[in-house]
Amino acid sequence: MNVYFDNAATTPLDPEVLDAMLPFLQNHFGNPSSIHGHGRQVRAAIENARKTIAHLINAAPAEIVFTSCGTEADNYAAFGSVRTLGLRHGITSQLEHHAVLHTMQALEKCGDLTLSYLRHDAQGRLDLAHLEELLATHPRTFVSLMHANNELGNLNDIAAIGDICARYDAVFHTDTVQTMGHYRHDVQQLKAHFLVGSAHKFHGPKGVGFLYRRSGQTVDALIHGGSQERNQRAGTENVYGIVGLAKALEIAYRDMAAHQQHIQGLKDRFIEKLRAEIDGVEFNGTSADADHSLYTVLSVSLPPSDLNEMLLFNLDINHVSVSGGSACTSGANAGSHVLNALNADPNRGTIRFSMSKYNTPEEVDYAVEQLAKMYRRVPA
Ligand code: PLP
Repeated sequence: MNVYFDNAATTPLDPEVLDAMLPFLQNHFGNPSSIHGHGRQVRAAIENARKTIAHLINAAPAEIVFTSCGTEADNYAAFGSVRTLGLRHGITSQLEHHAVLHTMQALEKCGDLTLSYLRHDAQGRLDLAHLEELLATHPRTFVSLMHANNELGNLNDIAAIGDICARYDAVFHTDTVQTMGHYRHDVQQLKAHFLVGSAHKFHGPKGVGFLYRRSGQTVDALIHGGSQERNQRAGTENVYGIVGLAKALEIAYRDMAAHQQHIQGLKDRFIEKLRAEIDGVEFNGTSADADHSLYTVLSVSLPPSDLNEMLLFNLDINHVSVSGGSACTSGANAGSHVLNALNADPNRGTIRFSMSKYNTPEEVDYAVEQLAKMYRRVPA
């Protein structure tokens, strides 16, 4: 068996998505900025994709800006808001993806803002009373807090965070890269100014994403040049990517309930089997709590063992692809910044299993068996 449990890193392309993209790789090659027929045909495809995405998240088409990836959309929201609006304070968390954390730190380094980090507990649950405290004393704040943590699977209550931000008139950006296509986002309900999507996280192509930018939210472009994307993002559009992005999101919404049930079933099976097979197994953050975690991600904490350093390698040679992560504060390998922020025990090993609609219960059993075999070999 050859199994792939690294879907939080990237997902395989859905064949239906490929079919939608192919005509734009094979035949429809026009530049969407050209006013002739070849160009207009391609322009229409981009605008249809924009309408599809807008409709799915209950936004207006003009609120969707296509980007090259989730990271670019995060950078655009942060740099654009802070610089255009002259915001002088930022709030984020040490648990954010580097796409946000390093971006906010870059803004601080450039002298644009001072940064506050939201407190969290040992399981990575954010302290929303602290958010209120910080906002009460800092007017003109840019808040960036993710929906689901990509390493732990922890889900943050972005509805509550949005309400708090609205009370203090803060600009709220939420990195929804791991939840776009896995939950229904409704921007009419959520008090967020920015949301982010990245196609390769929901069976679309790599190299294309989008930023939802609430209407009236003025931000300067990050990339300057031509007048593409209504002057908000210059550069000839990734047409087949944009078509694939919209198709992938459409499929994700169409089949969401069935996929959620299937994947949650796989996650429950993982938890049950790991508990049965490996003494001392634990789960990082709120990963094993179905009500407070992303159903596609399970972060497993393994008991201290000499094997932990070779965990990923040993799984890989047994044809199981997963991500690792360790808490380690010294040496060249600084480990996972998320596990370090949780003060996780550096002697324990961490594996992130992340699942998709293509995984099966048999693959779960195989992966657990490979892991359990390794631990059984360890002398008590
Ligand atoms: N934000 C989160 C939470 C992610 O998990 C990732 C990718 O893993 C990104 C941002 C970056 O997305 P992209 O790969 O599209 O740049």
